[in-house]
Amino acid sequence: MKRKPRLGQNFLVDDTARHAIADALGDLGNRTVIEIGPGHGSITEILAGRCRRLIALELDPALAAELSFHFRNQPHVEIIETDVLKADLRSLLCAGETADAIGNLPYYITSDILLKLFAAGRDGTIARSVLMMQREVADRVSAAPGIRDYGLLSATAQMNAQVEHLFTLPPSAFSPPPEVYSTVLRLHFAPRFAELGVDAVGFDVFLKQIFAQKRKTLQNNLRAAGYSVEQLAGTWPASIPPQARAESLSLESMAELYRALPPLQIP
Ligand code: SAM
Repeated sequence: MKRKPRLGQNFLVDDTARHAIADALGDLGNRTVIEIGPGHGSITEILAGRCRRLIALELDPALAAELSFHFRNQPHVEIIETDVLKADLRSLLCAGETADAIGNLPYYITSDILLKLFAAGRDGTIARSVLMMQREVADRVSAAPGIRDYGLLSATAQMNAQVEHLFTLPPSAFSPPPEVYSTVLRLHFAPRFAELGVDAVGFDVFLKQIFAQKRKTLQNNLRAAGYSVEQLAGTWPASIPPQARAESLSLESMAELYRALPPLQIP
């Protein structure tokens, strides 16, 4: 079968690692699992023996056909040939059903998959995820405020989920080996919007505004977004230094600032 590098096809060949990834979801006896990019089925095979229902989403028609044939006698395993970014995850489940998501992700769309899973966490479709991604991206997702890697992806992820760093694998764990190291994260979706008194849609936009230019101060980024000097001066919380950058702020402080500022008038 011809490998398609543009689909991020670096297959996991480390036996210990594929078991560790499946193990990270714990007891699956009563769970539905959605696997993103099953490939040749290295993780799928383990999950199929453990979970109540398994739905695997694979874009490559040849791989989807291979897996459909392999699992033809296991009706609790559904192989769907689709682009995960176009799939309506909610509609894959029955009413009231929640799922866990797992995947050695196609790295070229990691951020888009994460954003999709955050939304699915918010509407109760997905409860937990175990995801392998490029190490640098995982470092950004799990970074704490004030450290170099902290940015928009960190704040967005941590507004939506508790993030656990599990382990990192070298390129030799894959065939063909990618040029990067890979890290597995576990995410428990637990949106913090209500707790922090902010609305999800508006706060997502606000995060993009305050992180628009990482080297700029919060105030300069907010000025670029459309706030006047007077608006900022009149509402700026005393607890946030006027020269602070977004990367130094906790989520609590970002939410305090968002609540204090008047809504921007979009022309
Ligand atoms: N899970 C397998 C493993 O660990 O060996 C394969 C992982 S490989 C890194 C990524 C897989 O995602 C490939 O099988 C690729 O064809 C598939 N893929 C790429 N883009 C996709 C998309 N948009 N939707 C669903 N699957 C996709």
